[in-house]
Amino acid sequence: MNTTFHSTRSSSEQLTSRQAIRQGLASDGGLFVSDELGRQQVDVSTLIGKPYREMARTVLGVLLPDFTAAELDDCVRAAYGSQWLDSAITPLKPLGDDYVLELFNGPTSAFKDVALQILPQFMARTTSASSEIGDKVMVLTATSGDTGKAALAGFADTPGTGITVFYPEGKVSEIQRLQMTTQAGSNVNVCAVRGNFDDAQTAVKRIFGDKALAAKLMEGHNVSLSSANSINVGRLVPQVVYYFSAYAQLVERGAIKVGDEVEFVVPTGNFGDILAGYYAKKLGLPVGRLIVASDRNNVLFDFLTTGTYNRERPFFETTSPSMDILVSSNLERMLYYMSDGDTELIRNLMDDLQNKGSFTIPEPLLERIRGLFSCGWADEDEVSQAITECWKNNHYVIDPHTACGYHVMSQEPRESTMPRVLLSTASPYKFPRVVGRALGLDTTGSGFECMDRLAQATGTTAPKNLRGLEHATERFTDVIDIGEMADYVRAASERL
Ligand SMILES: *Cc1c(COP(=O)(O)O)cnc(C)c1O
Repeated sequence: MNTTFHSTRSSSEQLTSRQAIRQGLASDGGLFVSDELGRQQVDVSTLIGKPYREMARTVLGVLLPDFTAAELDDCVRAAYGSQWLDSAITPLKPLGDDYVLELFNGPTSAFKDVALQILPQFMARTTSASSEIGDKVMVLTATSGDTGKAALAGFADTPGTGITVFYPEGKVSEIQRLQMTTQAGSNVNVCAVRGNFDDAQTAVKRIFGDKALAAKLMEGHNVSLSSANSINVGRLVPQVVYYFSAYAQLVERGAIKVGDEVEFVVPTGNFGDILAGYYAKKLGLPVGRLIVASDRNNVLFDFLTTGTYNRERPFFETTSPSMDILVSSNLERMLYYMSDGDTELIRNLMDDLQNKGSFTIPEPLLERIRGLFSCGWADEDEVSQAITECWKNNHYVIDPHTACGYHVMSQEPRESTMPRVLLSTASPYKFPRVVGRALGLDTTGSGFECMDRLAQATGTTAPKNLRGLEHATERFTDVIDIGEMADYVRAASERL
């Protein structure tokens, strides 16, 4: 048995990757990591010219050693097929002297599809991971917009699984709400909650900790609860693949030869997307600097410049909602590896964060981290300007999340001739009003009217999955109180 996964805060409990995916979070609150990371390297020269699926099989085979090759093949086939608008899955395109890696060509037009199309496939293959879990799994998520839809699309009609998504009533955009409430599938449940996102998130955490409910679901219905949260190792590892894909595409274009280093600029919130780049480097990919791009919630920028992470600060609602985060969970994994697996240090830092609202890392560790990670951030005006500039300079339309990265990239001194790749995390058509305003378009009327004007002005096309929402039928109209969420979950689990 390949039990190499343990908590970032202790190595006493050892799990297989299958168990780690099923469990989500370690019992001490830490994140699952494996000390095997990097022992087996992936030779990128063997991947040049290969289809995305084959790269995924190779990279995932190294990162999830207790899945068989046949299982991974089935997972990859189901996840990276015709539901993607581009057969390259994550196509690389030139952007002036730089490049952009499009991560938004999946079924919900956001980069979370890369992970959430395959996580359900992994999850469906974890039911035999431990005798304490049931045959069926109900995935539970509170969402502020993007994650909920990507999780719904991934889990819809996946055998042995169900999905329940709660969103705060009136707090997500019209398009985001329609994306969720029109979701097809016999195992999906979507419900609005009276309250804000934090209220819903806190209630979901309480439901996860409800032992009586868990026992009832297990005994009565053979169902266990699980999470599709971005701290799940099954969401992180699929993202490592597109760094290899980006590199291979640069080689294929003749922009680099194998062995040359490449820099990546990554719009970041929970630190998952950029952490995957660090994993790729550990697997042997020639990654130069990894550049963290934040929005006005620039807690990571402050951390990387001072060594102190302080979550006691005002929270800003910006036009890049998926990066509006004060506690960047996946940072803990980077600190674990950068400190050479010092579980005691991580435990102390996380205790400080919990009890004092901040932590400070030792100076030598900060120096080491800064040798690899640089950082920048964009305020709301700079986001808007970046959308305008990128269109003017490159005739390429970017969304507000990607715009944070574009701004940071344009501020960074270029390291000699090293190619730079900007990761693009959402389709501009998910945010047609913000993008339209930046481009000086008329932004009155519905989101769909904004989409049409954006299409007309830029000669681009709105993805069908978004434009088609205007006439799709809403299936889910329930609105409940926070106190009713547990009952909703029980009823949904009974139907599974
Ligand atoms: C989730 C998300 C991000 C941030 O990704 P992390 O992995 O949390 O750093 C950036 N852009 C978009 C559009 C997202 O949905």
